[in-house]
Amino acid sequence: MVKRIGIIGAGTAGLQLGLYLLQNGVEAKLFTDRRPEEYAGMRLLNTVAHHHVTVEREDLLGCNHWPSDQYGYFGHYYYVGTPQPLEFYGDLEKPSRAVDYRIYQPRLLEDFIARGGQVEYAPVAHEDLSTISEQFDLLVVCTGKGPFGQMFSPVPESSPFDRPQRALCVGLFKGIREPETRAVTMFFSPGAGEMIEIPTLSFGGMVNALVMENHVGGDLEILAKTKYDDDPKAFIALLLEKLRKHYPTCAARINEDEFDLANGPLDILQGGVTPTVRNSYARLDNGRLAVALGDVQAVVDPVLGQGANMASYAALVLGQAIVAEDVFDERFMEKVDAARKDRVLCATRWTNYMLDGLGNLSPDLLNFIGAISQNPPLVDEFTENFNYPEKQWDCFSSAERTQAWVATRLASSTVDPQVAAAE
Ligand SMILES: Cc1cc2nc3c(=O)[nH]c(=O)nc-3n(C[C@H](O)[C@H](O)[C@H](O)COP(=O)(O)OP(=O)(O)OC[C@H]3O[C@@H](n4cnc5c(N)ncnc54)[C@H](O)[C@@H]3O)c2cc1C
Repeated sequence: MVKRIGIIGAGTAGLQLGLYLLQNGVEAKLFTDRRPEEYAGMRLLNTVAHHHVTVEREDLLGCNHWPSDQYGYFGHYYYVGTPQPLEFYGDLEKPSRAVDYRIYQPRLLEDFIARGGQVEYAPVAHEDLSTISEQFDLLVVCTGKGPFGQMFSPVPESSPFDRPQRALCVGLFKGIREPETRAVTMFFSPGAGEMIEIPTLSFGGMVNALVMENHVGGDLEILAKTKYDDDPKAFIALLLEKLRKHYPTCAARINEDEFDLANGPLDILQGGVTPTVRNSYARLDNGRLAVALGDVQAVVDPVLGQGANMASYAALVLGQAIVAEDVFDERFMEKVDAARKDRVLCATRWTNYMLDGLGNLSPDLLNFIGAISQNPPLVDEFTENFNYPEKQWDCFSSAERTQAWVATRLASSTVDPQVAAAE
């Protein structure tokens, strides 16, 4: 008998799960409140970079429509605004890539439809879930909006914060020249914030996402509170002033005559994310299982770009388990959890650690940054490991581990730190 799976929400988690199931002979139906043609007129959804492991999953699913040799980026530049600023670069082993989700998500939804997937367009109400679940062997919930999030209780030991840790101001901008190599740039302004610059494909071609992670109560917080729409020129002037002060190497690449939101006033997003890990499933009123997938199960601050990447990973893990198993019960969930846990939990822990360490200028983290900045192979490894948050957590889960990570590599390194620093 063909299995039937219902999926609430057509974000990256729901779409990639749906595509995987269709590819493997499972019937899938998506419930979503957005039609493909609605995305182009929407406000910026986020600014998501897909690490190359996620791009490889898209290749597997046959939904990589944006070849990395054309749209990808090749590494990370780092700028640390200490009194003597540090600047260094790390290579990725394969290119990663960012596409505006107002282009990405409708395209994958169209793929799903073209391959025979069913879609129902309407906002689903939480109280309808039991009735909907009767049509399926399993229901997967891929939206955390309102009561959907509350269905799955938070896991306290993995949810250390009760509020956002950064005041976010995120936008797509034109008028910023690319650095020498197309790359993400991660800027750190100690005591004030972090900024991630991401080369992103949007409606008119390549533009730059600026993800401004402003410390609450710091000099940059005003960027999350000032409305572009109230006075666009004043907003851009304020932003330029802050970029010159905190992120000067970005400001130096800006053509001030052109600098503005790339596609117009909808290209900006302000707010915050409360990092939370939730239970991975719930029982509906009728006793059936509802599985949490994507942000609804684990949501992180965007500072390290982990959320959609771990959602994609978890979607394929869940898809494989659905294909392999015939009974969807507690034992099924135990197996799904065991398979996705390390990646998802380590992404949340590492992100929370960096938020805290960058916010409080942790000496262990600063020593780590100082050490890798002098040694290209170490920066390369740190950069590549954005793909593998569990490897980052192997390094950062204790001060002892961080020191050992650096010491072991330095002991076998052939790089002369003084020569590397001069390069
Ligand atoms: C500013 C910012 C930058 C980010 N940068 C990165 C990054 O660089 N890398 C990274 O990996 N992650 C990043 N993220 C995180 C990433 O956006 C999320 O982790 C990811 O999009 C979550 O996907 P999802 O499918 O779980 O949920 P969503 O994308 O939220 O999808 C939920 C879906 O459910 C639908 N829906 C909602 N309510 C209903 C309803 N009642 N009925 C029917 N349908 C409904 C919505 O329309 C939507 O399609 C960023 C997030 C932000 C905010």
